[in-house]
Amino acid sequence: MKVGVIGGGQLGRMLALAGTPLGMQFTFLDPAVDACAGALGEHLHADYSSAEHLQQLAQSVDLVTFEFESVPAETVAYLEQFVPVYPSAQALRIARDRWFEKSMFKDLGIPTTEFADVLSQADLEAAVAQIGLPAVLKTRTLGYDGKGQKVLREPADVLDAFAYLGNVPCILEGFVAFTGEVSLVAVRGRDGQVCCYPLVHNTHNDGVLHLSVASDQHPLQALAQDYAGRVLTQLDYVGVLAFEFFEVDGGLKANEIAPRVHNSGHWTIEGSECSQFENHLRAVAGLPLGSTATVGHSAMLNFIGSVPEAAKVLAIADCHLHDYLKAPKAGRKVGHATIRSQNVEQLQQQISELEALLKE
Ligand code: AMP
Repeated sequence: MKVGVIGGGQLGRMLALAGTPLGMQFTFLDPAVDACAGALGEHLHADYSSAEHLQQLAQSVDLVTFEFESVPAETVAYLEQFVPVYPSAQALRIARDRWFEKSMFKDLGIPTTEFADVLSQADLEAAVAQIGLPAVLKTRTLGYDGKGQKVLREPADVLDAFAYLGNVPCILEGFVAFTGEVSLVAVRGRDGQVCCYPLVHNTHNDGVLHLSVASDQHPLQALAQDYAGRVLTQLDYVGVLAFEFFEVDGGLKANEIAPRVHNSGHWTIEGSECSQFENHLRAVAGLPLGSTATVGHSAMLNFIGSVPEAAKVLAIADCHLHDYLKAPKAGRKVGHATIRSQNVEQLQQQISELEALLKE
């Protein structure tokens, strides 16, 4: 089976690593000459809106998926005329826009923080009067890793905030005093079957994911699955969807969804029976889903900026290195490691060893 992937970053790379044993072959559409997935398949260097290259992609593959949600929904809608695309353009349209996704949570009875649509500085002032401070102003689209957002703590922060984010459509969200951040990676097959991985505790540094620890029988697992199930059904979704939640007062508030494989699910490569990457491909290809059961306890640490020396990473017990072969650059995700253990205390010890290595 020939799979077209829009985007050729590390998520595309890991999709190819999972799909190759299943007999899949990959073509990545990515304008970046050095797209790191390119080494694992064919690389179409082209803009995402190039009709000529979209046609070329559609003609050369059996189906198309995408590995980042900033793909213009029109690109996916255009491709859908010629080739099956999963997840659908409609699912992408909602998931890539914070106003649409939060409105959907509200319609589905999924708790989320108060929010308002902001199309001008005047709208922002009205929204602040309604929601109060502190609050978070976010661009509706294209934000990632804490980019495209500003925390407003006092009235002076409001003054230039809309211009600060580029005078583009935004939403204002009430600030959530959360006790933790968790995510749920779920997958839905073409036949509607849904499987979920265990909830993952996430810790961020400067808005970028630093550490994900897969939980063991989290008390909010069933609730998270209920919320994710409502969204998956509503969107008639096919593929992996990641759901990010804030833990508040013993419950969950939905933050956002990502219509793709997710950084907080990378541990599943070694830590579960069938990884998020393989399950995404199984789902979009109409194959039976694989088991999401865990193999011991797992955590994942991101490498930001540069990858530590392989020999040192691999000297840590049951530690698995993923180097995306991306050029080192401050703030860039260039690799990760998954750590596995048969007991939780030992896992913590291994995480501390790896964190110490990152500080060297
Ligand atoms: P996001 O891009 O929405 O995932 O936001 C990036 C990070 O900013 C989140 O992981 C939270 O740590 C923080 N954050 C986002 N929205 C809020 C909010 N409404 N209240 C408090 N913190 C937030």
